[in-house]
Amino acid sequence: MASSHTVLMRLVASAYSIAQKAGTIVRRVIAEGDLGIVEKTCATDLQTKADRLAQMSICSSLARKFPKLTIIGEEDLPFEEVDQELIEDGQWEEILQQPCPSQYSAVKEEDLVVWVDPLDGTKEYTEGLLDNVTVLIGIAYEGKAIAGVINQPYYNYQAGPDAVLGRTIWGVLGLGAFGFQLKEVPAGKHIITTTRSHNNKLVTDCVTAMNPDDVLRVGGAGNKIIQLIEGKASAYVFASPGCKKWDTCAPEVILHAVGGKLTDIHGNALQYNKEVKHMNSAGVLATLRNYDYYASRVPESVKNALVP
Ligand code: AMP
Ligand code: MG
Ligand code: MG
Repeated sequence: MASSHTVLMRLVASAYSIAQKAGTIVRRVIAEGDLGIVEKTCATDLQTKADRLAQMSICSSLARKFPKLTIIGEEDLPFEEVDQELIEDGQWEEILQQPCPSQYSAVKEEDLVVWVDPLDGTKEYTEGLLDNVTVLIGIAYEGKAIAGVINQPYYNYQAGPDAVLGRTIWGVLGLGAFGFQLKEVPAGKHIITTTRSHNNKLVTDCVTAMNPDDVLRVGGAGNKIIQLIEGKASAYVFASPGCKKWDTCAPEVILHAVGGKLTDIHGNALQYNKEVKHMNSAGVLATLRNYDYYASRVPESVKNALVP
């Protein structure tokens, strides 16, 4: 029998369960103690066993249920049969009960592109900064990020033994974002969150020009967007290449679904069609509110150095 749910809502419901499963893999690898660290392009660009296993789990689980999707994952992995134990077949029931925004009700599986960051914040993961880590599954249609899931495997890990470990945030444009309490930074405060592992002069010049009250340096694009929606930071500023489409797709949706804005450092929207280059070469600027305050303070010298 054909499902009464739209492809998009079935995909988001599956992505939720699949991201949760990936979160358990991320925790298991640490618990087992062998991170299997590999350097990709340099010492701050790492891959661990958790990145590899989580990507295999996410991409295989999605492809099995939605064979016509285009799925783009961060890690370059050799083709191998995936262990059945890594496959997640569940669909989060609460999502299936939500109405699909009408503009997406006729979207077909083959028209969707899924951007997967199996473990965002790998450098921090290897250093034990565990709540910086997220699993990101972003869904794009006609080049635009429209739905996303963020699992934070170590949410609450410093909150004591009774706290529930891990959470999943999800959102669809036109429907909203769920799994967290929206909070804003106190009015008039300019708190910038930016990279801790990929800093350089351009990043610092841009942050300084914004005259912040405080600067937070944490890992992960997913983690920084969570800081924006939970009132810990007012702007995510990364005036440098390095961040990729799989880093921004899911976080962008969550932010946009609650009225925020994510662009490159020039103010251009990011594109997520399958042919697009992976690198966000012109950096990232994201805010929940007061986007114009930050955008108007990006120095011309920084803009000139970052070609889209
Ligand atoms: P960060 O804010 O440094 O945690 O970066 C956010 C995301 O972009 C992470 O997935 C990083 O791995 C990635 N990223 C940013 N800059 C670089 C870079 N120079 N080389 C490799 N990955 C980067
Ligand atoms: Mg990442
Ligand atoms: Mg990653």
